[in-house]
Amino acid sequence: MPEKKRVALVTGGSRGIGRGICLALAQDGFAVVVNYNSNSDAALHTKHMIEQMGGTAEICQADITTVEHRELLVDHCMETFGRLDVLVNNAGIAPPERRDLLEMTEASYDLVMATNLRAPFFLTQRVARLMIEQKKNRSIPAASIINVSSVSAYAASINRGEYCISKAGLSMMTTLLAIRLAEDGISVYEIRPGIIATDMTAGVKEKYDRLIREGFTPIRRWGQPADVGKAVAMLARGDLPFSTGEVINVDGGYALRYF
Ligand code: NAP
Repeated sequence: MPEKKRVALVTGGSRGIGRGICLALAQDGFAVVVNYNSNSDAALHTKHMIEQMGGTAEICQADITTVEHRELLVDHCMETFGRLDVLVNNAGIAPPERRDLLEMTEASYDLVMATNLRAPFFLTQRVARLMIEQKKNRSIPAASIINVSSVSAYAASINRGEYCISKAGLSMMTTLLAIRLAEDGISVYEIRPGIIATDMTAGVKEKYDRLIREGFTPIRRWGQPADVGKAVAMLARGDLPFSTGEVINVDGGYALRYF
């Protein structure tokens, strides 16, 4: 029997922003598939947190950069819950080492692009076909795909160019898929987080503590994973039914231009 609740798959849902997204979706009544790559303790902890709230969750190890693991992830979701309503492409990495553009290695470029852009594109292609099939046989009422990009999609950092290129690509991916999938009733959105307190930003904490204090963003605080979670839940619930391809900034106002 397919799960009665709507089902969401969150890549990199085990910790950081992904965990914030999983908790918000569970709070809204979604059954959640928490994907992770290497840190099973973090994934189990997220599942435990969801179950403590009375929610439903399943963890699934899969390195989203490989086609075999992406297949396994989708199969695991369907075998466990029998349906998939929402895909959140959240998993992403920073370059292992920050280097000036002129010193960037091909290995770092390939790793970051494979994780942040190629993987979400081909996972979405796989899931979109499945969603179309499910919508045709009426096993799901609505479907959406939510991509977690970054302010780095438009704000350049010349010492991590590969990250910026991957996020700018993810942004165009959102536009392309929004147009292609509108006829199938699948909405596609982009969430653009600013500076969010997670392991990814732990190494630059002092720098951003100071910048935020000095007014780096109009809202003078760090973003939290729950801030991103709330935005994703709003989209996943279907609160913007006549919008697709839309970008939601979750950045404390960083994107605003002002004197
Ligand atoms: P994080 O704390 O480093 O967590 C990354 C998550 O992605 C982990 O769950 C990790 O799983 C998973 N992951 C990494 N590579 C994977 C792979 N190959 N296959 C499957 N899962 C993989 O990062 P975060 O700060 O939460 O960032 C989440 C997303 O938000 C990323 O796309 C990031 O670019 C974006 N973002 C972050 C910020 C920020 O300030 N933190 C700002 C803008 C955008 P394991 O632990 O098992 O490896």
